[in-house]
Amino acid sequence: MSKIDSANRMEQIPPRKLGDTWEGWSGEIEENNGDLATSPWYFLSFYGLAVLILHGVAWLLWFLAEPRLAEIGVWLKKTVFAGGIAVLGTMDLGLLLIVATVITGQNFVPYYKGKHIALSPLLPAIVKIGTAVGLSKDRISNSLLQVGNRITAANIGRVQSNELLILLPRCLTKVMRDAVNELAGRYGVVAYVCSGGQQARQLLAEKKPKGVIAVACERDLMAGVQDVGAAIPVIAIANKRPEGPCRNTHIDMLEMENAFRTFLGERPIDRTGEQLELVK
Ligand code: SF4
Repeated sequence: MSKIDSANRMEQIPPRKLGDTWEGWSGEIEENNGDLATSPWYFLSFYGLAVLILHGVAWLLWFLAEPRLAEIGVWLKKTVFAGGIAVLGTMDLGLLLIVATVITGQNFVPYYKGKHIALSPLLPAIVKIGTAVGLSKDRISNSLLQVGNRITAANIGRVQSNELLILLPRCLTKVMRDAVNELAGRYGVVAYVCSGGQQARQLLAEKKPKGVIAVACERDLMAGVQDVGAAIPVIAIANKRPEGPCRNTHIDMLEMENAFRTFLGERPIDRTGEQLELVK
């Protein structure tokens, strides 16, 4: 794998077959011209609703099973009750700590240890709730990835530029690739273009980075963070797809620069270049 230094490298990669992660794509441009930026509060609200529903189901089951359990033995009834309270209490506490981390930028998620929120066992229920209220799966993923980025930012220590790995998709426009390359050069970081998950995994095994900035569509990012998120801190940046998936996509360069700065221990900046106050 070589450093991207121009579009030449891109020419060597065979064209991606549309459909790898976009099978079933209707051919229509997505909502909001392919820009699916979605507030983290959507995901957190659906997460809260999923936990609430779980409480309801648990209490219903308890209501139905409690007489039978008491018949078998008081010890069994007490054990099941205590187990249920422990599980539900852990979920409530987990959600509260995630919300506190997202609001304050402080690390309130002690069990984090590099475990990405995309690995939450509640994810299928959260997606169902989100789609039921009209959000696409990609928008829910976008919102989730933003929650994950904030948890990562609150957790990571300072990383050296040679310990940081930038993974780019090949669908970025040439202008965008050049801009990312220029920015990466300014921060002394090397960026790589990957043609797929296999190549990304090879790079991770070879470079053993302490932090990763991954750019891709929400579908590829979700697959990626579920794949490696448990082992390496990842900041995921979703591309914008005004011409549809897999061609001429672009990203918000401020988002990219602030991802660099987060890993390198520098204060984020706003669109005027002013440094923002660190919340953590
Ligand atoms: S990252 Fe780009 S090339 Fe890869 S599947 Fe998504 S839209 Fe297509």
